[in-house]
Amino acid sequence: MNIQVQCCGIVILLLIWYFSVRQKTLGLESEKLFLINMGVTSFCVIMDITSIVAICNQELLPGFLLAFICKTYIVSLVWVGYFGLVYSSTDFIGTRQERRKKNRIYTVIVLTGTVLIYALPIHYYLEGEVVYTYGPSCTTTYIFALLFVLATLYKVGWKGREMNPKRRRAIVIWMCIWVIAAVTQFLNANLLLVGFASVLGMVILFFELENPEANLDRETGAYNAHALGEYTKLLYEKQKKFSAMLLALDEAASAGKDSSSAYTDITLRGIVRYSDRLENVRVFKTLERELVFLTNDVGRMQEVYEEIKSFVEHWKEGVGDEQSKVSPCYVLLPDSSLLRSVGELFQMLRSFRVGKRENPEENSIILDQEKIGHYKEREETEALIRSAIEEDRVEVFYQPIYSTREKRFVSAEALVRIRDKEGRIVPPDRFIPIAEKNGLISQIGEIVFDKVCAFIKANRLKEAYGIRYVEVNLSVRQCEEEKLAETYIRIMERYRLEPDCINLEITESTSIQTRKNLLKNMQILIDYGVKFSLDDFGSGASNLNYIIDMPVSIVKFDRDMSQAYFANQKAKFVMEASMRMIHDMKLEIVSEGVETEEQMEAIVALGIEYIQGYYFSRPLGGEEFLQFVGGRGASAMQGRQQ
Ligand code: C2E
Ligand code: MG
Ligand code: MG
Repeated sequence: MNIQVQCCGIVILLLIWYFSVRQKTLGLESEKLFLINMGVTSFCVIMDITSIVAICNQELLPGFLLAFICKTYIVSLVWVGYFGLVYSSTDFIGTRQERRKKNRIYTVIVLTGTVLIYALPIHYYLEGEVVYTYGPSCTTTYIFALLFVLATLYKVGWKGREMNPKRRRAIVIWMCIWVIAAVTQFLNANLLLVGFASVLGMVILFFELENPEANLDRETGAYNAHALGEYTKLLYEKQKKFSAMLLALDEAASAGKDSSSAYTDITLRGIVRYSDRLENVRVFKTLERELVFLTNDVGRMQEVYEEIKSFVEHWKEGVGDEQSKVSPCYVLLPDSSLLRSVGELFQMLRSFRVGKRENPEENSIILDQEKIGHYKEREETEALIRSAIEEDRVEVFYQPIYSTREKRFVSAEALVRIRDKEGRIVPPDRFIPIAEKNGLISQIGEIVFDKVCAFIKANRLKEAYGIRYVEVNLSVRQCEEEKLAETYIRIMERYRLEPDCINLEITESTSIQTRKNLLKNMQILIDYGVKFSLDDFGSGASNLNYIIDMPVSIVKFDRDMSQAYFANQKAKFVMEASMRMIHDMKLEIVSEGVETEEQMEAIVALGIEYIQGYYFSRPLGGEEFLQFVGGRGASAMQGRQQ
């Protein structure tokens, strides 16, 4: 009997079974489908052998049983094709439900084929070594199997761009082997290769894709990053809740270069071995010094955290002095439903790992709705800033500043705004603090400064409107930059602007280094002819010493200070004393945040030189500002003063 090839197939399948079940697995969708494919292929090869044995001994069997055996074998071939198609769909983007819907159609087709194959007649051919079946039942088998093979090839060939390329290649090879085997068998009935070709398909899938080793990290025995991605994707698709914890063993600041890396590896291995013993906990090694723990038992992560933490502490004590060079950091996500997708999960765990380093004292973070909300808001704002910079949606508004001596508007403060995609104005409080953190403030600052220079030049503010200078805010972060003065001077030169048109507002900074850089920048700009103001005086952090240190010509009283003056006696004394001292230093004062007539009159009576506030005007867009200072607004205000 010609069954040697099939017997080899059985041996190969047994080996694959052995290697598959020996390793720990995650129960991924493709893993399960692979095992089903293995089952169907094994069944197919067994039925192949059984049918050959049955045909060779047909005189011993009743006709219906022989037909049943042979038809079951050819039906199993169609089912191998069917599961091949289902397996190849696991990678496609789309929800589990969508895939299920498609699979339902394939199931209807395979069941129709099965019924037809069993219903139609089959014939056998036996002469010496040559055994085969033919007839309508076999033709139907060819048609259905071919249908599935073509559908699979179509899917991975034409629509498989979104597929893992490795899986795509493996499936194409598998299907080609199958087709070649079928054609060979068709042309040479002596070679019964189709069943064996399915076995070869399994070999390719196993080595290329489904070897559980591919999901493991060799160093530690934990699952690897790829496995984490696949597994969490599955959990999100099935809407199964889980808890996660990231553990990073970063080098402590005191550590030497190579001292702790070998130690870290040993520690990681120890932690993985320990956590393998914890019930219902899976551990993944995602980066060189990073592990991620998952448990389906939501709410248990706190407990796991305590256990792992105490294990790490014990381990450190056991190893001795070296250990102090590694500092663990934990990020806990108690409930996966706080995040919507695997992408968010990774992003969040990583960002909080990095974010945490800003505060090295605290070595564990529990992600909750609030933290995640803040983080997302920050991300959104960051995207808003970037798109505004790219698409030129950074705008400058101008708030007029009134001179109490000249009784007219003599300057203005430039205030940045972002216009969002819907055309709404976003105020600076929302994006400046974030831009300061991520460094985008420098770009924003330059854009604003450029626009202000262009505005002054194009509208001849001094000559046509009597606006002698425009105050432009500088962020502390910008003042640290060595090239700030150079950049700003270059911009002014580009517009051939007189430097006295510009007054730069600085705020107080506590860092000595920042002050040093700021002073350097200030000196260059002052030598060039630009003047400076100290912004937000009275807002808490400011003090008189700062004014003594900094070469400013104007001090701006913060809105709180301007307003507290009217509310409380102490603030009144502070303001009067500050005012006197500032005037003694021959500096001028702008009072910000003046909203009412009463406030305005009191400020004028105090002898403060300039007033800025809603009483006169809110910050206005360029055109509106020109109208305001050029006509209606200015004369209305002058009228109001008389
Ligand atoms: P700031 O420099 O102290 O600007 C004054 C703020 O007070 C402005 O808020 C202005 O609209 C507001 N204001 C003026 N008069 C009144 C009033 O009578 N009542 C009240 N309630 N508020 C008044 P805005 O435009 O929202 O700016 C907020 C802060 O954003 C600014 O405070 C400044 O620190 C920052 N900023 C604005 N533009 C820029 C910029 O181009 N660069 C940098 N680095 N920071 C900027
Ligand atoms: Mg300001
Ligand atoms: Mg201010």
